[in-house]
Order: sequence, then C-alpha cells, then structure tokens
Amino acid sequence: MIIVLRPHSTREEIDFVLQEVERLGYEPRAIDGAMQTIVAAIGDELQHHTLESLIALPQVERVMPVQKRYKLASRESQPVDSIVDVGGVKIGGGHFALMAGPCSVENERQLLEIAEVVKAAGAKILRGGAFKPRTSPYEFQGLGLEGLRILSKAREETGLKIITELLSEADVDLVAEHADILQIGTRNAQNFRLLTAAAKTGRAILLKRGFSARIEEWLLAAEYILAAGNPNVLLCERGIRTFETAMRNTLDLAAVAIARMESHLPVIVDPSQGAGRSDLVIAMCRASVAVGADGLLIEVHPNPAEAMSDGQQQIDYAHFADLVDQIRPYLAISGHELA
Ligand code: PEP
Ligand code: MN
Repeated sequence: MIIVLRPHSTREEIDFVLQEVERLGYEPRAIDGAMQTIVAAIGDELQHHTLESLIALPQVERVMPVQKRYKLASRESQPVDSIVDVGGVKIGGGHFALMAGPCSVENERQLLEIAEVVKAAGAKILRGGAFKPRTSPYEFQGLGLEGLRILSKAREETGLKIITELLSEADVDLVAEHADILQIGTRNAQNFRLLTAAAKTGRAILLKRGFSARIEEWLLAAEYILAAGNPNVLLCERGIRTFETAMRNTLDLAAVAIARMESHLPVIVDPSQGAGRSDLVIAMCRASVAVGADGLLIEVHPNPAEAMSDGQQQIDYAHFADLVDQIRPYLAISGHELA
C-alpha cells in the first residue's frame, strides 16, 4: 500500500503514521518530498490488517493499493490462461465454448428438440433456466425441479453438458446434482454467500457480471469463488445498464477485452441478455469473438414469438446455424478452436 500524507504534515504526524503502519504488521518506508511525504507499506495484506483505515487520520490524504484487490483472479498470480474442463469440454486457452438453448426450460419435448438442433450446429453445452429470476412475480418463474429433470434427460440423450441458473442457496445441492455448470445470474452477481456455497460444490461456475457492477467488482466476485477453493470460474459479460434505451442492456465489449487482460479466467459473452434484441445477436457474436471472448451463451428457441420468457431476444434454429457459420472466420483469426 502507498500512503500519501497531506502537504506540510509535521514530523510528529509523519512519525505517528510510520508507527501505525508498523503496528499493523507492515514495514514502513518513508519518501520525503519537498512538501509532501509518501509512505510505502511493505507486507502481505492477506496476512495483516488492512491499512485503508489510516485514511481516518487527519494527516493522511490518500491510501492506495499497489497490488490488485483481486489476487487469485489476476494475471499477476497466474499469467497463463486458465482452461476450465467441464467433463471433457475444455473452455479457455484457445478452446472456444458454444453454449446454447432456450431462456427457460418450457417442456421436455421442446428441450430435447432444441438440444439436438444446437448440438448438430456445433454447441457442446446446453443452456436452459429451470429457476428463473423474473423482474415481476407474475411472470413465468420456471419449472423448477421438473426443469432440472428435463435438463438431465437432455444430457443423457445427447451427451451435451448442462448449464442452468442457481438462484438460491437453498437449491445448491439440487442444482449441482443436475448441472455441469452453475450459472450465477446478474441479479445474484454479488450475493457472496451464494457464490461461496456454489463454489463448494466443485462444479464449474459461470459468473454473470452484475448489471451495475464495475469490472473490478465483477472480478472481486469471481475472487470469492476462487478463494473458496474452486478454480473453475467462467466470467460472463451480459450487458450493463446505461442511459441507452435502444437496447435492453449495453453489451460492454471493452470489458471483455479488459477482463481478458486483467484475468486468466475464460470470458464468455451473453449477447442475448446483452442486447436484448434478436436482430443484434449475430453481429454481437462476431464482435465478441473478434475482441477475444472464449465462448458464447446464446438463447435459442424454435418459435421465439411464443417463448415463455425473453422472446424478443431469442433466435430461431435457422439464425443459430447462420450464427455458427458467421463466427467461424473470426474464430480462426482470433486463434480459437470450437470445443
Ligand atoms: C438468463 O440467462 O436467462 C438470465 C436471466 O441471465 P441474466 O442473469 O444475465 O439476466
Ligand atoms: Mn433470458
């Protein structure tokens, strides 16, 4: 940490800060400038008390971390890309994951049909919400346990891996029993107890970015999962809330590039929630691959107009096949191979 003292602090005030730094378990090194003194505190913040409380002293102007607040998620701790292995399907480090399926699991016949179609087009992972986080309590809330059962059946019949949302701590074991990847949604993106409970299942976890979370907050949320001993984290950009009303959310593709630079974790893009418009999905997928995404999570429905949730942003079978064709050249350029 770096502690910047106010200009013209007295010798006593400076000495007091040095003593406090030492008392909190760090080695202080003072750098005296013409007007201002800066104190570098050397030590490991994981082992010792935080120095941020020093800001309460009147002679302290600023306390700044030198290292990243997220440690395990950072490239400083691991320079090479992480590869998350989901039962043999590798994601990251050049392995590109295509995850597709309906917003919600609606019924068995439909899900099995979607599974076959997305598999034939190249997807290895089937998405589908059984527990749905809906803005209104009067909207379809998902089939719950029945939805999980249908997802498991689709896995058995097609061999696809399953990703589905974990909405509550109460359902951790149940969802982990049926899913290969636990999806933590945007509304729960900073529910730290849920993140820790999910981490302990050992399942891979796809962590959506909170719709108002800064990139640092998103990475710190991932840090909770890593700190709980689960290295299998997939970051997912799904759009943030801005002043723009032409789209449901603003898909933040710069955040994808930054997350790839800052972290070794694979970064997935969800252009369906991200744009909230089916007519933007394919273009956003091309752009996501070009910017370095390690995978895509896409809502596909046989008849979006009749979907029980998110009909405006789901794409039909023909568009999904077109999407896969359209991203292939971008995958080749960005050095990714379709898993
Ligand atoms: C979803 O994937 O259907 C979903 C609800 O996602 P998000 O949490 O990003 O809104
Ligand atoms: Mn959805």
